[in-house]
Amino acid sequence: MAADAASPLPDQRCLVNITESAAVTPASLPVVHVLKGHTSRVRRGHPWLFSNEIDMTPAAKAIPAGSLVVVEDAGAERLGVGTFNAHSLIAVRLLTRDATATIDTDFLADRLRKAVALRDALFATPHYRLVHSEADGLPGLIIDRYGDVVSVQANTAGMDALLPLVLDALDVVIAPRAVVLRNDSPVRGLEGLAQNHSVARGTLDGPVELIENGVRFLADLTGGQKTGWFYDQSANRAFIANLAKGRSVIDVFSYAGGFGLTALARGATSALLVDRSAEPLDLARAAADLNGFADRVETRTGDAFKTLETLAAEGTQFGVVVADPPAFVKSKKDLGAGAKGYRKMARLAAAVVEPGGFLLCGSCSHHMGAELFLQEVTRGVTLAGRTGRILYTHGAAADHPVHPSLPESAYLKVLVMHLD
Ligand code: SAH
Repeated sequence: MAADAASPLPDQRCLVNITESAAVTPASLPVVHVLKGHTSRVRRGHPWLFSNEIDMTPAAKAIPAGSLVVVEDAGAERLGVGTFNAHSLIAVRLLTRDATATIDTDFLADRLRKAVALRDALFATPHYRLVHSEADGLPGLIIDRYGDVVSVQANTAGMDALLPLVLDALDVVIAPRAVVLRNDSPVRGLEGLAQNHSVARGTLDGPVELIENGVRFLADLTGGQKTGWFYDQSANRAFIANLAKGRSVIDVFSYAGGFGLTALARGATSALLVDRSAEPLDLARAAADLNGFADRVETRTGDAFKTLETLAAEGTQFGVVVADPPAFVKSKKDLGAGAKGYRKMARLAAAVVEPGGFLLCGSCSHHMGAELFLQEVTRGVTLAGRTGRILYTHGAAADHPVHPSLPESAYLKVLVMHLD
């Protein structure tokens, strides 16, 4: 089998096969070899091989980015089939440890069926993150489901090349009315992929409706943030909403009102949603109308920090304050400045919490560790002259499972404090 590596397929062949949806059997795939002494992590269950762990022969380097490959150890034992990108730090992402598996529509449909079965066990309605990358056996693939519309993001060259098959598999498993490709994540740059988005299948004539925790929401899949909706916060929205009954709520960095409207549905007396972008606030008001509580919602377009400062200066306070911002730490080098940003956010937010009220702070910054986040939020609360207790620390909802070998992929941190 080692001979395969010395005589790889002509460059474009496996990519052409994929786009033509033809079966790509392992026998027709190029082989890459793991350097001696570098297989133990993968054998223990890790799904990646780094570029310095692969025998980067001229033949291996010539394999087009995103191709399917068979992975062998130095002794020609087959470890599985994966996608390969010689130009990425993560060179191999294993799709299966079955080295005889053919990666075709059936293979992907089987993975999708399992992902649907898990979500259907978790949720009453088909509105959820359907595929969460490695944890669902589909490295680099994100799919959010809004009933019969899905939003798809391919973040690796391998998954990008497989997209035509993924779309076919989606047709087989859930037959969506429309598929939006949100291939505009900056991480695509690391894989040499361009950023773009489009409606790949069907048509979309405006925002789509979703139900989360029994509340109706509207998401803009083509113009909104990320894949259109932040399903990762669903469990945290339910937690804080259950504390909001009979209380006033402010939701800063509200986007389309996920936290604020859930609180209104659970009996909050009012919700003020603050975001610097007007479009998601329009959607939030329209969704409040759909739920029949438009009279209790107010929206304000503006900067969250400035708004909190103004409210504090006026002496306005709320029974529940939610601050779930965009990532302040986009790369490791931003950690210092980003950490200070969370501290400031917590300080300003704590200042507008009523005595006996609740404060929720969130961070979706991958590089901000849970301990540091806790430290910065509690420092901010102290700087605001407030005391209290930590009630709840949590991550993303269960439709965002984590691969057991990739605990670092758990990016979301949420902290709820009860203040004196
Ligand atoms: N909390 C939201 C998700 C937040 S996404 C939810 O539960 O769905 C981040 C949001 O913060 C975006 O809508 C963005 O427009 C907004 N934003 C970013 N910087 C801001 C700022 N300085 N002030 C107010 N809003 C901001």
